[in-house]
Amino acid sequence: MNRLSLADKLALDKFAVDEGKPHISINNELCQTCTDRACLRVCPAGLYSEQDNGIIVEWAGCLECGTCRVVCSPGAITWHYPRGGFGIVYRQG
Ligand code: SF4
Ligand code: SF4
Repeated sequence: MNRLSLADKLALDKFAVDEGKPHISINNELCQTCTDRACLRVCPAGLYSEQDNGIIVEWAGCLECGTCRVVCSPGAITWHYPRGGFGIVYRQG
């Protein structure tokens, strides 16, 4: 049996996007004091990026792993699960 790569497994996932209702928001004032910018490395989906010296997150593709909640400076991001019926639908374990 062929084993799927991580990228292949992620490609199987589906997202029910709650348009206009991001479940992650960023306080870029606090991000300006964050020199490590771990978000750029730790998000398994690579959703964080730098833009105009600030940080943006493409929240619609969130895997809801919670890693960014742990590594971010206190208060720098607001994170909650998407409301019921929205968010990621895992289809491979
Ligand atoms: S919860 Fe996980 S997948 Fe979602 S943005 Fe944070 S690190 Fe990325
Ligand atoms: S989102 Fe979190 S890790 Fe990224 S720059 Fe802001 S505080 Fe730092």
